[in-house]
Amino acid sequence: MDIVRTTRERLYRTDAIVLKRQDFGEADRVLTVLTPTHGKLRVVAKGVRRTSSRKAGHIELFSQSEMLLAKGRSMDVITQAQAINLFRALHDDLLRFTYASYFAELADKFLEENDTHQDVYVLLREALEELVGEASDARLPLLGRFFELRLLGLVGYQPELFVCAHCKTPLEARDQFFSASAGGVLCPACRLTERDAMSLPLTTLKVLRFVQTRDYPEVRQLALSQEIHQDLERLLLRYLTHVLERQLKSPEFLELVRRQALGEPVRVRSSS
Ligand SMILES: [Zn+2]
Repeated sequence: MDIVRTTRERLYRTDAIVLKRQDFGEADRVLTVLTPTHGKLRVVAKGVRRTSSRKAGHIELFSQSEMLLAKGRSMDVITQAQAINLFRALHDDLLRFTYASYFAELADKFLEENDTHQDVYVLLREALEELVGEASDARLPLLGRFFELRLLGLVGYQPELFVCAHCKTPLEARDQFFSASAGGVLCPACRLTERDAMSLPLTTLKVLRFVQTRDYPEVRQLALSQEIHQDLERLLLRYLTHVLERQLKSPEFLELVRRQALGEPVRVRSSS
């Protein structure tokens, strides 16, 4: 009886989304998964690279599944997995696949292992659902910006968009500046307090506020000029990079894929 009880105590059930996977040993994989109640975990899927594996089809990249995990000494082990949503369409569309990779990378980078953030799990799941459901490629950048701003807010790095990040004065309706190191918008009087201050047109600031405070069904209705799209993307990438204190891998690749998908010229950015 004791043995049965011990075994049961070592097992736990959770939903999980696969963020990342790595081959391990002869036939195993190590998965980084995001769960609603156990946070981010690194878990082992044994034997899944064998063609006979029954688990393999349920733990593909980005899939959401219900897993039965056994506590292990260093990493927990997947004993059963049942797919809830494979998000299969993401694997047939390079642009959407790249967005999904970017979202997964951000969630992975912003969360520590075992750091429970049910709201981030829900955000990621809904973003993957939107990626599959959204018919228009042109709307995907808005989904990207929405995901970035929501995630930043949920993990405690919401950029300040309503008062000056330096002097705390409410911002006037005019062009402003943005500084990643200040953590948000700087008023014209404070722009010189941070070396990385970049100009922020009022229209772009208004869009940022809209995306930060509204739900996605409203955000996806926005019709923005290419210039504003680029402003938003550049500003948020700079801020995310600053917060993470390291260069993200996916955005440049995403930019290449997006330009190709929209038939725009592909420019190779020099790294500065
Ligand atoms: Zn100020």
